[in-house]
Amino acid sequence: MSSKALEQFLRDNIADLKNRGLYNEIDTVEGANGPEIQIGGRKLINLSSNNYLGLATNDTLKVVSKEAIDTHGVGAGAVRTINGTLDLHQKLEEKIAAFKGTEAAISYQSGFNCNMAAISAVMNKDDAILSDALNHASIIDGCRLSRAKIIRYKHSDMNDLRKQAKEAVESGKYNKIMVITDGVFSMDGDIAKLPEIVEIAEELDLITYVDDAHGSGVLGNGAGTVKHFGLQDKVDLQMGTLSKAIGVVGGYVAGKQNLIDWLKVASRPFLFSTAVTPADAAASTKAIELLMESNELVEKLWENGAYLKAELKKLGFDIGNSETPITPVIIGEEKVTQEFSKRLFESGVYAKSIVFPTVPRGTGRVRNMPTAAHTKEMLDEAIEVYKRIGKEMGMIE
Ligand SMILES: *Cc1c(COP(=O)(O)O)cnc(C)c1O
Repeated sequence: MSSKALEQFLRDNIADLKNRGLYNEIDTVEGANGPEIQIGGRKLINLSSNNYLGLATNDTLKVVSKEAIDTHGVGAGAVRTINGTLDLHQKLEEKIAAFKGTEAAISYQSGFNCNMAAISAVMNKDDAILSDALNHASIIDGCRLSRAKIIRYKHSDMNDLRKQAKEAVESGKYNKIMVITDGVFSMDGDIAKLPEIVEIAEELDLITYVDDAHGSGVLGNGAGTVKHFGLQDKVDLQMGTLSKAIGVVGGYVAGKQNLIDWLKVASRPFLFSTAVTPADAAASTKAIELLMESNELVEKLWENGAYLKAELKKLGFDIGNSETPITPVIIGEEKVTQEFSKRLFESGVYAKSIVFPTVPRGTGRVRNMPTAAHTKEMLDEAIEVYKRIGKEMGMIE
């Protein structure tokens, strides 16, 4: 018999979300998450993955994964600090450090878990964290877990950051103060103002933490937002994911040796949750190697992004102010946004609607994630569908 209180809670909350058009029905992809996917037997052009470089289905990485299974098995067998640190994890971390241009790196099981781990290993209740208003959910949760005072600053507003940082310093209430930001904001595709953030941090002795989940593999010839601005020596914690452009799964922090030494003894998901599988570690290492050897995939990604943006803009859609290949089509009202996405789906384009609470109320959007794996023909087909549905729904002329 289940709890009456739980039943009531679930019934009320699910009904409430459905009434407000905020209930997300999850689709199942039948097969690989490539530039085209199949859902419900229907073939679709996929504009919703984070598989920026197409590496999730890369043939070389498949081979490397299979080899790692043959030599190391399917599981790591333990948490990293007992005896789950395999030579493959070690190699991965060396590769990440080389890729990021830092002394060392630590890898985790996911980017989300990495933010849970690293923020609370460094910050505590006697500290304060200045956090961009549009930071990712995992940053918000990681900050909460640390029990530090969380001070939100207006999105990318450097005057507000400076003012609040000064107040925090002058209050004398905190031992340490951190500023934390996404490198690339995934809902709009804009880039954090890292040169100014670093300048403020140097002036006021703030710890700097950049979550580069959407910048890695995209900016700075693939090495990320920090490299893009040439700030490798100025950012204390460069966090990233192996699950997006890298195409596999996992997360990491790159930084100074003493920081990484500390995270290896103090970050709880590293101590208490089993390491990623041999296949994951080997594939991630190889993916980074491919990125370090050639810029071809990154260039293709940008070329496709520029093309999609230009064409959608020409048609009259509001594509916001993205500075990266991420291409939002901003619609506004939640229900209309979902209807638009549904109509695209029925015409063979998978571009997921993103609404509150992922983005602020009234800024619903259909977000397009072009990748290096899309052909021009696929993009043209998608653009044609956008044009037709946009006209039918009265969004463009
Ligand atoms: C996706 C994302 C994460 C989480 O990464 P996973 O590896 O998918 O857990 C963390 N931060 C940001 C900004 C992200 O976009």
